Amino acid sequence: MGSGNIRVGLGRDVHRLVQGRPFLLGGVALVSDRGELGHSDGDVLIHAIIDALLGAAGLGDIGEHFPPAAETWKDADSRELLKTAWDLVKTAGWRLINLDCVVTCERPKVLPYRDRIRASLAQVLAVPREAVFVKGKTHEGLEAIGAGLAVEALAVCLLEGKSA
Ligand code: MG
Repeated sequence: MGSGNIRVGLGRDVHRLVQGRPFLLGGVALVSDRGELGHSDGDVLIHAIIDALLGAAGLGDIGEHFPPAAETWKDADSRELLKTAWDLVKTAGWRLINLDCVVTCERPKVLPYRDRIRASLAQVLAVPREAVFVKGKTHEGLEAIGAGLAVEALAVCLLEGKSA
């Protein structure tokens, strides 16, 4: 085993789904009659990933870095938020081993978009596509997510830091 410093990070986010908004996952627009309500562009997957990365590095959370009350982040491209957060984490000496994610929504299906989502995230993070994975699940018709009123994303990441 290496003597590297290993940290796990966990992130979660939920957004309401409403008509007239784009449905964005990892910067990719899915064909859907509803999209995420949010102060920024509402990209629920990227928001969960930002919290996972920041949490693993012990560098705070998305709400502290990008307060929803700030006009700056209104309709912001979440890929830019991710780049900013990832730069902070990298500057602190961390590199990404892997990122694994689950998106739960009743529709649309995530699988047809998986490759594009992985490629988009890998590009923003400047890591190999193999380091990023995304799975789609339904909520079996249960509760708000099952009724198509919301989408949830979970992200877990592993970071390796400088040797202790
Ligand atoms: Mg969010």
